[in-house]
Amino acid sequence: MTERGRVYLVGAGPGDPDLLTFKAARRIAEADAILVDALVDRRVLAHRKPGARVIEVGKRGGCRSTPQAFIERLMVRLARSGRVVARVKGGDPFVFGRGGEEALALARAGIDFEVVPGISAGLAAPAAAGIPVTHRGVSSGVTFVSGHGADGHPPPWEALVRTRTTLVVYMGVASLPAIVQGLLGAGLAPETPAAAIERATFDDQRVVRTTVARLAETAARADLASPAILVIGACVALAGLVSRAREGACMAAAARAA
Ligand code: SAH
Repeated sequence: MTERGRVYLVGAGPGDPDLLTFKAARRIAEADAILVDALVDRRVLAHRKPGARVIEVGKRGGCRSTPQAFIERLMVRLARSGRVVARVKGGDPFVFGRGGEEALALARAGIDFEVVPGISAGLAAPAAAGIPVTHRGVSSGVTFVSGHGADGHPPPWEALVRTRTTLVVYMGVASLPAIVQGLLGAGLAPETPAAAIERATFDDQRVVRTTVARLAETAARADLASPAILVIGACVALAGLVSRAREGACMAAAARAA
């Protein structure tokens, strides 16, 4: 135990434990208590010191997820009792991970904390599938969006289509048909290239590549499941040129789906 408790909000990256940053590994090694989400690969815990307590706080095996307020209270309590806490989250802590809420709770409680950025799935998944999300002459920007929308409203599809940027959608698999409908309804060309990347950067990563009009049907036929990232935009067509290896993976997935 140290004199003064504190919390590290650590991004563990998208999956492959080698994509942990050095700083994340060092913070995990310092911690007396590690609060870890279900989506985080357990191999990152190999960096912990002997005797560190590991507390699983995510959704596992069909159980309900640990309430957010409980996690926040636990972090505050541990830090107040002098513990160094590593709160380890998938990807980047401040991208769709409720890390902002946790940081606010810590700030309000007067707890010292540090945010350790991680490689977000929205960047890692396209890269691992050979898709450059920006490319000179093809796409001059990228927009990250949740497939759920916010506060019961669907994502603002028309505004998103108007940006003409590559769209990267988190948490989109469950509502893929509605997402496709939203994009086509907003005027996106049906033949716009699109991909879905399941379990990006893990050994069993799967990629399907098709057009936006066929994305829902193709993903369903391949039985694609969460966690997955959707990528929509002209640069998806570059995947075949950039990565021959991944092209093989795409074709294998497509063949399984057919
Ligand atoms: N903070 C995380 C995102 C948490 S939201 C980050 O920055 O990556 C959870 C969503 O992230 C999933 O529904 C999925 O869309 C995406 N995701 C996380 N890990 C993934 C992976 N290995 N492959 C594909 N998508 C992933």
